[in-house]
Amino acid sequence: METTEKSLQDYYLDLEAKHGAHDYHPLPVVLAKGSGVFLWDVEGKKYYDFLSAYSAVNQGHCHPSIIEAMKEQAETLTLTSRAFHNNKLGAYMKYITEYFGFEKVLCMNTGAEGVETAIKIARKWGYQKKGVAENNAQIIVCNNNFHGRTSTIISFSTDPNSKGDFGPYATGFIHVPYDDIEALEAVLETNPNVVGFLVEPIQGEAGVYTPAEDFIKRAKALCSEYNVLLITDEIQTGIGRTGSLLAVCGNCDCQHACEQQAETYVRPDMLILGKAISGGTYPVSAVLSDATVMDVIQPGQHGSTFGGNPLAVSIAKKALQVVLEENLAQNARRLGVIFREEMNRYISTSKIVKLVRGKGLLNAIVINDDPESDTAWNICLKLRDNGLLAKPTHGNIIRFAPPLVMTEEQLRDCISIIIKTLETFESHA
Ligand SMILES: *Cc1c(COP(=O)(O)O)cnc(C)c1O
Repeated sequence: METTEKSLQDYYLDLEAKHGAHDYHPLPVVLAKGSGVFLWDVEGKKYYDFLSAYSAVNQGHCHPSIIEAMKEQAETLTLTSRAFHNNKLGAYMKYITEYFGFEKVLCMNTGAEGVETAIKIARKWGYQKKGVAENNAQIIVCNNNFHGRTSTIISFSTDPNSKGDFGPYATGFIHVPYDDIEALEAVLETNPNVVGFLVEPIQGEAGVYTPAEDFIKRAKALCSEYNVLLITDEIQTGIGRTGSLLAVCGNCDCQHACEQQAETYVRPDMLILGKAISGGTYPVSAVLSDATVMDVIQPGQHGSTFGGNPLAVSIAKKALQVVLEENLAQNARRLGVIFREEMNRYISTSKIVKLVRGKGLLNAIVINDDPESDTAWNICLKLRDNGLLAKPTHGNIIRFAPPLVMTEEQLRDCISIIIKTLETFESHA
C-alpha cells in the first residue's frame, strides 16, 4: 500500500465503508489523538474540536484527572453487576444527588437509556400516584425533539430519517410545537391522562433551537397545575454547556442546582443527564428526581448490567468535580458571549450567514440557503482544511460546541478561522 498522506486516510475510510453498517455519514477526517480542545488526525494534522462529541467532551479530551481516576479504578474493580453492592456506588449517589439538588438517582449508561428510564418512571408514577387508568398514560413531547434512538424513542420522533420504516411504533405520546406554551396548556387542559412533559431546554439536534427565556418556567407552572411531571432532557445542554450547571438554572451564577437559585432556577421533577457526565470517556447516564417519584421503582422492575458500575461512577464523580474546580460553566458563559458578539459582527455584513443563536458554548449558525442544500457540509469540509472540526445539524445549520476548557485566546483564534472560512463562501451567495 502507498503511504502517501491521502492514502492513509482513505485506508481507514475504506475499512469502515466496507465492514461497517452505514448508520453514520461522518466528515472525512480520521482522528487518532485528543488533548484538551485539540484533536489530531492519523496524518498528524492538528484541529480545534468544535463539536466535543455532541457535548460529551465538555471537560476536554483525555482530561488528566479524569483519566487518572479511570485508570486507578480500572486496575481495581470494573464491574460487579447490581447483584452485589460495590464500594463506589453509594458515595457517587450521595455526590451526584447533592450536586444537582435531588433526593435520588438511577444509574444507566447511554442517554437513550436515561430517557427510557424516565418514561418508565413517569408512567408508573402516573398509575400509582396520579391514578391514571392502566395503559392510558400519555407523555407530551415536542416537535423536532431528539431523545435518542431506541424503538420507543423514535416512535415519537418527528424526523422521517430517524423514524421511517422502523414501525410499528410505541403509542402514548402527544406532540406539541416546541416553545409553544398555549399548545402545551391546551393538551393539559383536555387530557387528564398526561403524566409527563418531556422536553429539551434547548433543542440541540434540531439546530440549537433556543426557546423564549420563560418557556421552561411557564411549562413548569403548568405541569404543577395539572399534576404532570416536568422531565428535562439535559443530556446535551447540561453540565456547564450552556453557561450554567444546567440549562434550567437560567442565568444564575450559583454553581449548584440548589434552592439558592430560587429566582432563575426551574426545578424539573425528573432530570436526565448523559454525555459529559463522564467527560466523554465512558457511557454514563443518570435520572435524578425526588423520592416521591423515584420510589415507584421497586427491586426487579428496572435495571442494567453496567449501570452504576464502579468504573463508571468513579469516572463520573471525577468528571463532575472537574466542572466545578475549573469553573467550566462560567467559562462557557463568558466565551459564549464573545462568540456570539463576534459572529454577529460578521453576520451584519454577511450574505451567506443569516444568524447565530445559542447559549453558553452551545451555538449554531444558520446559513442563508435551503435546509436540503449541502452548503453547511461544504463549509464544514473547508473548516476542516483550515484546522477546525464542526458538523452540520441540517443542510443549512452548523453547530459550534467546543470543549468548555477553551481559553479566550483559543476561542478568538477559532473565530478567525471560522470567519476566514465563511468569507470564501460569500462570493457564491
Ligand atoms: C445525545 C442525546 C441523547 C441520546 O444519548 P445517547 O447516549 O446517544 O443514547 C438524548 N437526548 C439528547 C438531548 C441528546 O443530545
